[in-house]
Amino acid sequence: MTGQCSICLSDWKDPVCIPCGHLYCSPCLLDYIASSSEDGYTTICPTCRAVFPIVSPELTCLPKHVHRYITPSIRRVYLDNTAVQSLQQKLATSQNQVKNLQKESERLMLFCEKYQNAAEVHADGEAKARLEIERLTRLLRESRVATAEAAEQASEWRERHGELKKQVEGASKNHSRKRASTSQLTDDSLSTSTPMTPRRRIIRDLPMRNKKKLKRAEPDSQNVRYSRFPLSDSE
Ligand SMILES: [Zn+2]
Ligand SMILES: [Zn+2]
Repeated sequence: MTGQCSICLSDWKDPVCIPCGHLYCSPCLLDYIASSSEDGYTTICPTCRAVFPIVSPELTCLPKHVHRYITPSIRRVYLDNTAVQSLQQKLATSQNQVKNLQKESERLMLFCEKYQNAAEVHADGEAKARLEIERLTRLLRESRVATAEAAEQASEWRERHGELKKQVEGASKNHSRKRASTSQLTDDSLSTSTPMTPRRRIIRDLPMRNKKKLKRAEPDSQNVRYSRFPLSDSE
């Protein structure tokens, strides 16, 4: 318990208590009584103006069994400072805790800023990744459509290829059949003594020089047949 003396306005020094309950320093109260008592037996409290006696009866003149009922008006007070000390210790401990908590708070604030920056970077990356995923999904969808169209076109081309192949096969069969029949006809015409065609006659009537040239350029008998092939058709 701590407090201030209302006379000297300082902490109590050797505190004493008067009957009204107010506390003063022992030297301050003695000086006050010496200067304030008018009759030398009583005086008033400097705080509440209550009258209190300043003399004590002489106990030696009184019987012993009444001594315990006689109490002096000014009594020494012993203040218990343990509570104050414990409170001061608690206050110091709390202040230390506050300091530590402030340091911890600053440290956590740094971590918080660091993780907040990391979270912002992560959020940016996530947004970019989402956009990239959307773009790739769109590309995938378009490529699937293109693949389906290409497959459809490929099947159409395959069908067309089959038709063309059939046409080519039919044409080659017709051609070979026709060629076989034509070659037979040519052979027959060459083997029999047919009259000389006007063209052959013209060739024989050419001068000797040109005939030699023609002979040199004249193909073998098999080629003659083929070269004559269109002539026989015209005939
Ligand atoms: Zn005092
Ligand atoms: Zn008082």
